[in-house]
Amino acid sequence: MSGALPARASVVVVGAGYAGLTAALALRDAGVDVVVLEAADRPGGRVWSVPHPRAHAVDHGGQWVGPTQTRLLALADRFGCARFPTHDEGSHLELWHDGTLHEGTSERDSTAPGHAEYAAAVADIEALAARVELDDPAATPDAERLDATTVASWLDGVPEVARPRLALAVQGVWAVEPRDLSLLHLAFYVASAGGWDQLMRTRGHAQDQRFVDGAQAPALAMAAHLGDRVHLSTPVRAVRDGLVETDRGTVRAERVVVATTPPAARAIVFEPPLPAPRRRWLERSVMGDVAKIHVVYDRPFWRADGRSGQASLYTAHDLPGVVFDNSPADGACGVLVAFVYGDRLRTWAALAPERQRAALLDTLGRLFGAAATRPTDLLVQDWVADPWAGGAYAAVPAPGAWIEYGEHGWRAPSGTVHWAGSETSSLWHGYIDGAIRSGERAAAEVLAALDHPARGQEDS
Ligand SMILES: Cc1cc2nc3c(=O)[nH]c(=O)nc-3n(C[C@H](O)[C@H](O)[C@H](O)COP(=O)(O)OP(=O)(O)OC[C@H]3O[C@@H](n4cnc5c(N)ncnc54)[C@H](O)[C@@H]3O)c2cc1C
Repeated sequence: MSGALPARASVVVVGAGYAGLTAALALRDAGVDVVVLEAADRPGGRVWSVPHPRAHAVDHGGQWVGPTQTRLLALADRFGCARFPTHDEGSHLELWHDGTLHEGTSERDSTAPGHAEYAAAVADIEALAARVELDDPAATPDAERLDATTVASWLDGVPEVARPRLALAVQGVWAVEPRDLSLLHLAFYVASAGGWDQLMRTRGHAQDQRFVDGAQAPALAMAAHLGDRVHLSTPVRAVRDGLVETDRGTVRAERVVVATTPPAARAIVFEPPLPAPRRRWLERSVMGDVAKIHVVYDRPFWRADGRSGQASLYTAHDLPGVVFDNSPADGACGVLVAFVYGDRLRTWAALAPERQRAALLDTLGRLFGAAATRPTDLLVQDWVADPWAGGAYAAVPAPGAWIEYGEHGWRAPSGTVHWAGSETSSLWHGYIDGAIRSGERAAAEVLAALDHPARGQEDS
């Protein structure tokens, strides 16, 4: 996958994440001469499954798929990538902000307070989401006020008892703090996923299933299918009048699809320069802060205690925001995955490595008992340190950005440069499924621009 670069190709795709690979596969299936240039030494981007002797495959990035994420499911089926249900049986824990521990079979029936108030606030968000224009959020009724309102200031108006759950939801889904997110982007994202529950819940929703061999499996299969059209360890530095410049040479192309995160796109030099709205949009698109920590045990001991392994922590001083059972499909060992994001990640990053580990295990011990303090392995992936993603899960436009630059800057092609990436999708924006949809859209744009008839998919 990393041979000599061709001197020219009809289309160059920048980035071999799900968006870029999907665009390339659609173009290849249509008979277009396409080349994928990927900076990292692996395909998959923000989805990265690492083999583990006991946990089979550890998903350091995106991992879950839900029933309405139909493009990812179709891709997985095309390449025969097996899935299994996320472990969801048993009681979930809630560590309330006063330090008391609560249990319930869902976040709606735990013994912690505030369920009715939370449900009422969610209903308000759903009402906003129902009005969002998915293909042009800036055209949503009342968009200017919604984009000028941060979720933090909106939270000031909801009953205090509902705020911990809503704040944790924002941190958990966007990996930012409520002060970083506008009400318009929140409503857009909820609409994009098909509702609040789709984002938050497990069975039947976004966290429904996992991939037996890790969520990178379909990306690896796509890259293998594209074969020597994919060039790894080939960072693109500039796109000058159709000449794509990399660390390993240049490729001349009629069209270029840039399928990176917004900060990674910003780091590429474009000549002619990108139109001002696109440049400003990229500058205002800020990646979230998240680390994903896998803690491996001999067995999933919490299941025998009637626990699901899921926990939500509302205490500001505890490092993870949520914990899930991430044990492998074959049950060869037990795995808990802890998500550390936003302010919590900044606190974590300031600690010495041994303090980081001790703080995390102390919290897991309080949740699941002393056995949780004795893992056999602990693996940390801090996405803020990833040179090509620049953060995760996705970019969040700064408050006001949709109104100021969304209409012209979000995803409209810039001359012969087309834009893909999960951040450019109307549906499942920020998710793998959204990345795939964006790749399909960009490929369709390119085919139309090249006046190339779309062909049916080839099987080879
Ligand atoms: C911790 C974490 C948990 C997540 N959980 C889920 C989940 O459970 N379910 C879900 O659906 N989604 C999840 N996501 C989000 C999901 O992973 C992303 O939305 C999706 O993978 C984005 O795909 P993409 O192709 O748009 O971008 P990317 O995957 O970021 O791909 C962009 C590619 O471009 C490359 N690149 C960057 N700059 C250059 C350059 N100059 N030249 C060449 N190549 C370049 C990068 O190396 C990368 O491979 C999660 C993400 C993270 C990090």
